[in-house]
Formats: sequence, C-alpha cells, structure tokens
Amino acid sequence: MKRPGIKVWLTGMIICVLLSASLAYVLFGVQWPVGSNVPYYINPNTADVTDEVWAVYYAAETWSQINPAGLRLSYSGPTSETSDSLNDSNNIFWRNDGDSGSLAYARFWYWTSNNIIFETNMVFNDYYNWSTSGGYPDIETVALHEFGHWVGLDHSSSGIMTPNYDGIQRSIDSDARAGFGEMYGMQIYKLEVISGAGGTTIPSPGVYTYYGGDEVIVEAIPETYNCFYKWGEAYQGKENPIVITMNANKVIFADFRFINEPIGVSGERALNRSLSQAEYINILSWQTNPINFEITISNYKIFQVHNGKRNLIVELNANTFEYRHRNVQENTAYTYEIVAINSDGREGRPAKIVVE
Ligand SMILES: [Zn+2]
Repeated sequence: MKRPGIKVWLTGMIICVLLSASLAYVLFGVQWPVGSNVPYYINPNTADVTDEVWAVYYAAETWSQINPAGLRLSYSGPTSETSDSLNDSNNIFWRNDGDSGSLAYARFWYWTSNNIIFETNMVFNDYYNWSTSGGYPDIETVALHEFGHWVGLDHSSSGIMTPNYDGIQRSIDSDARAGFGEMYGMQIYKLEVISGAGGTTIPSPGVYTYYGGDEVIVEAIPETYNCFYKWGEAYQGKENPIVITMNANKVIFADFRFINEPIGVSGERALNRSLSQAEYINILSWQTNPINFEITISNYKIFQVHNGKRNLIVELNANTFEYRHRNVQENTAYTYEIVAINSDGREGRPAKIVVE
C-alpha cells in the first residue's frame, strides 16, 4: 500500500549527540492523536534474560499512567517480527546490530500533512548483554527512553530523555512528564491522607492533588507512647514511610496503636547474705499487657528515676519478666519505670514502682 506524505524518524540511544543545552524537554513536533490507545507487540527474542516482556511492559505502563485518557501504550501480545519495517504493527524486538555504540533505537512514521504518528518500531541491539536485574544495560531504562521517543519527545540534556545511558532510571522525571503533558494533557489525581488517633502524617492529614505518575512519600509519625500499626484504606502494608504512585484517586489511612504499660508489676527488697557480706537486691517482676496484642513487643527497658532524671539500667528481651537490681542501698527508696518497646523501638507508657 502506498502512503502519501509519510516521513520517518529514526533515533537511537547513546550514539546521539546532545541536541540542546536546555534543561527543558524537547518535542519532535509530531505525536499520536490525543486519546490514542497505541497497541504494541514484543518479540522476546533476546537470549540474555527471560523476563524482557515484563521490563518493556513496565516501561510502557510508566508512560501510560501519566494520563491514560490522553495516551495509552497497550501490550497486545507477542510477535515473531524481526524486521524494522512499515507493516501496520508497532513492534519491539532484539537484533544484533554489532558494536555500533547504540543500545537501541526507536523509529516512527508520521503524516507530514498533520504531524500525526501512525506507526512505530523499537529495536534493541542484541550485541549487548541485556539485564533486568540491575546490570548494564537495563531493559526497562532503555525501553522507557525509547517509549519517550514513541510518544513524541526528542532528546534533552537531563532525565530519561538524555541520549546517554546514565545508569538505571525506571521512573519519568518531571521534565519529561511535562513534555508529555504538553502533548497529551496531564491527569490530576487526589490523594486523601487520614490519620487515626495516636499520631499524624507527613504530609499532614488532608487532601492533595498530584499529576498522574507522581510518586508521593507518606510517613506515619506516632505520638509519645504510640507506635505506627499499619496503613488502611487502599494499603494494607506496614512499611513506613510508603511510596504511593498516583495513577488513581487514592485514600490512605495511618493507623496507630497505644503501647500500654506492663501489668502485674511488683517489687520487693531481698537480703542476700553470705558468710562474709550482705547484699540487698530489688526484685522487679511484671507481666505482658494483653491489651498490646496487636503490637510486637520486642524488649523491655527498665529505668531508674532519680532526682527527676531517668536513667536506663537494663534492656531485656520480651520473654523476660523479672529483673534483679543488685547492690542497692538499705533504707533507700528506689523508683523504677518498666517500659515495653515495640519492634520499631517505640517506647510505651511506663509502669512505675517504688521499692524500699
Ligand atoms: Zn534517544
């Protein structure tokens, strides 16, 4: 089939000379129609790894989540294609192009009448030993760059669209995203951060707006005697802080727990007499507080309070429920605080006891 008014752009990674000293994104001036869903096919024909489809897919999804309504790249299945030709299919495959210095290239065809792209290909140079596990060159990083060309971005001097391989980069920098946004619009999402009793969050509880693809760090900050328990709403994890990728409106809830003091606390003074000397010992004992059942208690700390100051005298594991404080003074009152410590090192409310 003859296509009138077609032009082809060919662009590669690494081999290219910097086109601009500007830090800002550079557009080719050609793009897909806004609202396009661009199907692509992958030939997983490199012998270097077994999960190349996933690496390419993740890169495509990273672009797609900026504004799915503006432009989506959709994996549509495998292909056996190894020819970089105009064939009504957006193909991605590996081919050994030798020691050319170029890791990969993207090609796209567009109509000169309206600067609309209608077909693309992506070719990885299988001369290189590709990696998905952190080695050089990283498939996802290079695919992210080449997809940048597919959507209409030229090289820039920083970020994912820099022509030089600069280590692993699997997310799109704000500059490249702004370039995408100029062509296809930016999706805005809301993040609602809610905090339960016993703590707060950074950013503080409230509703925030972000662009699609933004990564937001939310940290739970427990108050005194409290610990972070888990995230709620859309998240179930206990990781803190957490990174949220904004690809939808989201609500996150920080759930805290109060760390209660040990119960059954008692203390008594004993005299340990041997032939030559006498030693007074304060024997402290306590029990697990069952109210703390949702909290992992990993330690107990025992403090001695003297003249209004608190000094740590011992740290014990969570299976210990007795402590012998030796060589104490006769006729002197000792004030202690026994504190449960959770697995994050958070201190609970102390149980106080005086032994005299
Ligand atoms: Zn490039």
